[in-house]
Amino acid sequence: MEHNEIVRQAKDAGVKLVSFFWCDNGGIIRGKSTHISGLESRLSSGIGVTTAMQAMGDMDQLQIVEGMGPAGEFRLIPDTDTFTILPYAPKRALMLCDSITMSRRPWEACPRGFLKRMLDKAEAMGLTFQVAMEPEWYLTRKEGDDFVPCDESLDNSSVGMTFAQDVVDDVIEALEAQGIGIEQYHTELGHGQHELSIRHAPALRAADNHLIYRETVRNVAYRHGLFASFAPKPFPEQAGNGCHIHFSAWDKDGETNLFFDANDEQNLSELAYHFIGGIMEHLPGLVALTCPSMNSYRRLSPGSWSTAFTCYGADNREAALRIPSLFWGSEMASTNLEFRPADSSSNPYIALGGVIAAGLDGVERKIMPNEEQRVDMDPTLLTQEELESRGIRRLPQSLPEATRALEEDATLTGAMGKMLADSYLTIRRVDWEIFSQQDAEFEIRNHIYKY
Ligand code: GLU
Ligand code: MG
Repeated sequence: MEHNEIVRQAKDAGVKLVSFFWCDNGGIIRGKSTHISGLESRLSSGIGVTTAMQAMGDMDQLQIVEGMGPAGEFRLIPDTDTFTILPYAPKRALMLCDSITMSRRPWEACPRGFLKRMLDKAEAMGLTFQVAMEPEWYLTRKEGDDFVPCDESLDNSSVGMTFAQDVVDDVIEALEAQGIGIEQYHTELGHGQHELSIRHAPALRAADNHLIYRETVRNVAYRHGLFASFAPKPFPEQAGNGCHIHFSAWDKDGETNLFFDANDEQNLSELAYHFIGGIMEHLPGLVALTCPSMNSYRRLSPGSWSTAFTCYGADNREAALRIPSLFWGSEMASTNLEFRPADSSSNPYIALGGVIAAGLDGVERKIMPNEEQRVDMDPTLLTQEELESRGIRRLPQSLPEATRALEEDATLTGAMGKMLADSYLTIRRVDWEIFSQQDAEFEIRNHIYKY
């Protein structure tokens, strides 16, 4: 949209503030707002932010990272395609931003810039992506200091739908008003847990949509006196909140799904197999990008469909990569891969950028997946000897284990670039330092509140 059109729409709607949002290394959505009177000039000159914000831990403790301290600024430059007036706060609008340096170049530490670089690389290889992020969330209420599930609903239960009807109706309306299409809705396994899936979109847009989605669900719930949480494991005894990433590679015109091959037993092309091969090879380090919080590792456990092993399989919900069955009548279009060890405490640009970087490495090096890691049953039923002989390992079981794996993965850190990788790793380490010194209750309460 043209700048003057954005200003006109905002003024016509009575908007007072336009929030320039970014997502930090801890997956936290942050922003600064301009008053409507300054919008026109801010659209081109941006809003300045201290570089320290990218070195800020999840509890707002500033870390020492080169190039990120009290001196120096980056500028938030909004992507005009993301302008949306907020249905739950109609006097405010939001725009998602790129971070650029004072010499007007992309800032190396910008997560959105990382995803854009991966997409440019893919495009040079003739590939574009369609992506759907599939977040789950709990609806909770606050009792004293504690958050508790808002009801005791069961998986797919009609009772849970009834209880949450008003909130879910408003969430749907708000998403539609922001141009986000809805796919499906059901109550999930946990008490008060919901899954409302949205339509796939080009990769960058899908990551943007995920942030708009998180904002929408939390704000709408709040207006109903409830708290929605996307934390990976808000209640240790209940199911975790995943944010599975569905993706497929298309040709430049977006007409042919290049993951599809009708002649293959699994309807997958060689390109899709190379993607699987790359992702399987980089899984341990990749998990640090897609499951980045202390709370993420309460979720990643066997027997809870959140995945715990380095395996892939057809419609296998315990596998790190699921090959979903196809829609009858639209086989080509519906071919996709589902990356399951991912949650909404991740920064969607970093998570998706990492998945694409790993997949492209598979394409460049023509890595074929290890057939032994294909599992079309519950991997938790395999014996230790079977797992070992087939090269199937546990995914990282703690934040430090995942962080170390990322540190050792030069392909992933190289794709991120030094500044983003260094700051990201530093934030992961401080997260561990802080939460490992506290009890589970502190960790859970803080994650419910932040995500
Ligand atoms: N809640 C599960 C997870 O943590 C996923 C359940 C499902 O298959 O939708 O990923
Ligand atoms: Mg689900």
